Amino acid sequence: MEKYQKIIEDVYLEVKNMPQSGKVANYIPELAFVDPENFGINITTIDKESFGVGDFDKKFSVQSITKILSLTLAYKFEGVKIWDRVDVEPSGNPFNSLLQLEADLGKPRNPFINAGAIVICDVLVSHLKNPKEDFLDFCKEISNIPTLQYNEKVAQSEKASGYRNVALCNFIKSFGNIKNDVDVVLDFYFYMCSLEMTCKELSKIFLFLTIDNFTTQKGERVITESQTKRINAIMLTCGFYDESGEFAFRVGLPGKSGVGGGIVAILPDKYCIAVWSPKLNVKGNSYKGMLFLEKFTSKTTSSIF
Ligand code: GLU
Repeated sequence: MEKYQKIIEDVYLEVKNMPQSGKVANYIPELAFVDPENFGINITTIDKESFGVGDFDKKFSVQSITKILSLTLAYKFEGVKIWDRVDVEPSGNPFNSLLQLEADLGKPRNPFINAGAIVICDVLVSHLKNPKEDFLDFCKEISNIPTLQYNEKVAQSEKASGYRNVALCNFIKSFGNIKNDVDVVLDFYFYMCSLEMTCKELSKIFLFLTIDNFTTQKGERVITESQTKRINAIMLTCGFYDESGEFAFRVGLPGKSGVGGGIVAILPDKYCIAVWSPKLNVKGNSYKGMLFLEKFTSKTTSSIF
């Protein structure tokens, strides 16, 4: 297993010294303050061994990566009924697009684009008494990391500038696929996206999608085997905006990225890996993160294919 430490260090050095391409997300003003040179990787194996390199222990804004967690909790509550509200098809459009919603009568293409994640937030608002607190508690419980927190500044910054998300939520509501007050749903969405984690924490929290028969500290399963399979499938087909095909082609693992520059990827029954480098390519995925994972899976010949 120590081989992982050596391999991530080697690939880290190789990628770190390559010319930087891409730019840090600035459409959420607070995200633009992050140091673009941050670069960290952490891998956690199914035996719960953890190996890190670079800035693996620094917190950052996980943004859309959190959408895996909200989908998990909503799926737990609703079971298969959840697919009446949101589809499971790659959108082929940018993450914040309004385009397909009109033709699709307000049913978002998948739960990872903003439209779909907002509908999932609406489902959670219907189920949770205190959505922000209860969702955070869920994250703490499945990760066994009691210190997880939202970043207030990032949440407020997005709230003040999230015009497209406001438009999406209202547009979907006009089709009847948002059941709660739009302000409540959006407030929850913005906080959820502001969740902060380190690469080390990220590679730990998603062990429930990596390990067969995973149970929490309380000895409880998070979701069923079949639900685990389906969430991994949606990550593979829809986890990287309109670059999901490219990620599957180059890396070959189910995963999810966020505009904070983080990526998590899973090799079922083996490991969960998280990478963070804030500069994004034109499709909104971490430039060095994708490069690192491509080289890592090639070197370790580990992919699901
Ligand atoms: N909070 C971000 C937004 O709604 C999330 C985007 C992302 O990471 O994909 O624009």
